[in-house]
Amino acid sequence: MLNLIDTHAHLTFTELADSIDDVLARSIAAGITKWITVGTDAEHNEQAVKLSQKYENLYAALGIHPHYASEYSPSHLQRLVELIGSGKVVAIGETGLDFHYNFSKQDSQRDLFKRLLEIASLCRLPVIVHSRNALDETMQLLEKYADRTTKIVFHCWSGTIEETRAIIDRDYYISFTGIITFKNGDIARECVKTVPLERMMIETDCPYMSPEPVRKQKINEPALMIHTAKKIAELKGVDLETLAEQLEVNTREFFGI
Ligand SMILES: [Zn+2]
Repeated sequence: MLNLIDTHAHLTFTELADSIDDVLARSIAAGITKWITVGTDAEHNEQAVKLSQKYENLYAALGIHPHYASEYSPSHLQRLVELIGSGKVVAIGETGLDFHYNFSKQDSQRDLFKRLLEIASLCRLPVIVHSRNALDETMQLLEKYADRTTKIVFHCWSGTIEETRAIIDRDYYISFTGIITFKNGDIARECVKTVPLERMMIETDCPYMSPEPVRKQKINEPALMIHTAKKIAELKGVDLETLAEQLEVNTREFFGI
């Protein structure tokens, strides 16, 4: 029996939340037995904590996505800090910079990212980073605003080999989604080969990013992460059980669960 952990799921999104019991049952049957549900705004942070209190092996990360950086208010951050005290909050995130879509002004994104990094450092929580078309600046802000001991994971990774090496050189972690199974995912697969097993995590980013061979399935869910795990095992030349064990060690150490 596998014990994989989906380190980045949006289980509070209606696509999944409306049938959460079935979603989690299918996940357990597939060998994905723990989940971190990731907040993207004030409302989903509230729901993430509630969900984590209801289900034993489900944990919460609290953050505000860079897409919504323009909308955040100081009261949202104050509430986020209060929620950390409610237990089962294992990380700050997601947070970061998205200069690809630029749904929020870049200055708002920077400002929010800095604040969340400071909160993570003060509360001694690891950080789940979203970075798109903004790696240099993401790295600079991490260096400047995160405490040296703060653990960092780049989620849904799809950068270049060079960028991957830069992240690993800084002792950060990298988390892979179904992108590594996509037909056009050659670079992502090279990245999997580049990242040492001890520095790797796995996630769905559901309800998005269904992996091959079920990419047609519009709503991704934790059960489907098995396809991503199998592909990583193949690329690393290890069996699935060995991979699952190593990923579990990484994830437990990183998030303290
Ligand atoms: Zn996400």
